[in-house]
Amino acid sequence: MQKAGILGGGQLGRMLLQAAANYPVETYVLENDKHCPAAHLCHHFIKGDIKDFDAVYNFGKDLDALTIEIENVNVEALEKLEAEGVRIYPRPSVLRIIKNKIFQKEYYQHYKIPTADFIITKNRAELEQYENFLPAVHKLGEGGYDGRGVQLLKTKDDLDKGFDKSSVLEKMVSIQKEIAQMVAVNEKGETALYPPVEMLFDPVLNLLDYQLCPAELSTQTLYRVEAIALAVVKNFNSPGIFAVEMFVDKNADVFVNETAPRVHNSGHHTIEAHYSSQFDMLWRIMLGYPLGNTDAIMPSIMVNIIGEDGYSGPVKFEGLDEVLKIENAFLHLYGKKETRPGRKMGHVTIISKEKQELLHQSNKIKRTLLARS
Ligand code: ADP
Repeated sequence: MQKAGILGGGQLGRMLLQAAANYPVETYVLENDKHCPAAHLCHHFIKGDIKDFDAVYNFGKDLDALTIEIENVNVEALEKLEAEGVRIYPRPSVLRIIKNKIFQKEYYQHYKIPTADFIITKNRAELEQYENFLPAVHKLGEGGYDGRGVQLLKTKDDLDKGFDKSSVLEKMVSIQKEIAQMVAVNEKGETALYPPVEMLFDPVLNLLDYQLCPAELSTQTLYRVEAIALAVVKNFNSPGIFAVEMFVDKNADVFVNETAPRVHNSGHHTIEAHYSSQFDMLWRIMLGYPLGNTDAIMPSIMVNIIGEDGYSGPVKFEGLDEVLKIENAFLHLYGKKETRPGRKMGHVTIISKEKQELLHQSNKIKRTLLARS
């Protein structure tokens, strides 16, 4: 039986392990927190820092395959493991590009993949000279996630909100829609596309709030989105699963925002709404089985259950009974003991042929199921 490891033990690792239970694979998780969401679902939990060379190297050296649930891992150790024959999904070369938003933008530019115009800035002082480039979005090169490394700079007065480290200053796009396109790539380079999803964001927390699948796009835009996503992943030359996040602007032009080279929040609905989920798909790829069927069984909306403002501490979920009575809803709680404002505590997927029904139930769930303490 093959041995496969996951760097990181959050909800993505947890759902990956739920899917692993259906395959002949022995699973390993490396994570600092022994109470993390994935800890009790793997065969072997190893406590350690995914950013530490020795921890990652020692974790991976006797495994057949490795994957990640977050980009912020020790890439040097993965490169050494790769050179020694461990299969890594995605390839460490891809992580090098994606970990840093500057490299990522340069990658899109190099391969002529449409992305918003940008300037690289080294510090805050340098920003002053780019007043004419506003309105723009300032993005920290490394270390930002879930909106924490992103700052909107609308006018000159906002310039002092910019980051004082290497960052990307990107032209503000007049967004009509934010979408994500998941693509699966196997060892042979064969690809499978999921239908794109359409995302709605919480304007305050900047967190993905809920999403509709399939996204409502014209046929022409859909083709454009698919072609762009394929161009992004083909040039990585790496097997794995990728979520390509894109903006469709007011003129229906499509721009790549960023790519996640891993299972992703925008693919959670695939667990119930698609034949092969993103998690199932990654095991097929890692273990060398045929790609799965990405078709939707039914349209869906996925709602994130996020820690309520004003509540921190041991979580108590309100409204569970009511949500569990909804016949076409599927609940996922991530097993996090503590809630904090904005923390992803779970999600619910609703499936239905009727969009009105999807919207109705998702709004109801958002109002009813509350993560408090
Ligand atoms: P993170 O990696 O932290 O999720 P993103 O780069 O995805 O950060 O940016 C977070 C959000 O900020 C996006 O989902 C989008 O709503 C907004 N945003 C990012 N870049 C732009 C842009 N160029 N124009 C307009 N809005 C943007």
